[in-house]
Amino acid sequence: MSDDVSNGDHATWLDAIESDDGFYLECPNGHAWIPPRRVCKTCGSETLDRVPLSTTGRIVTYTEIHVPAPRFEHRDRVVVAIADFGGVSITGRLDDAATESIEQGTAVELDVEQSASTDERIVTFHPR
Ligand SMILES: [Zn+2]
Repeated sequence: MSDDVSNGDHATWLDAIESDDGFYLECPNGHAWIPPRRVCKTCGSETLDRVPLSTTGRIVTYTEIHVPAPRFEHRDRVVVAIADFGGVSITGRLDDAATESIEQGTAVELDVEQSASTDERIVTFHPR
């Protein structure tokens, strides 16, 4: 499962999430990271192994962005959240339908969607 070349690649990580095969990287000392990363930022270890990502995360914190910028012209706000997935924190955009009910501890699933406005793939959270 370990693949040193692709471990550091963000696109590979998004592919894995889309295939329900999400993972994070962990060094021998248990420090966890989201790709791209080739060296543990905490202890300097270059041995990073893939660890299967929990399918459910918990919202740790979130923030509403009220910026009617051109790239978000079809929405009046965007909620960006940080969720804890079993020891590793992931930042993503909250499902539009969930922005009214979000709170700390809300259980979410991880997903990857194509941004309607930028064509980039982005990490999103869907309440379970
Ligand atoms: Zn480490």
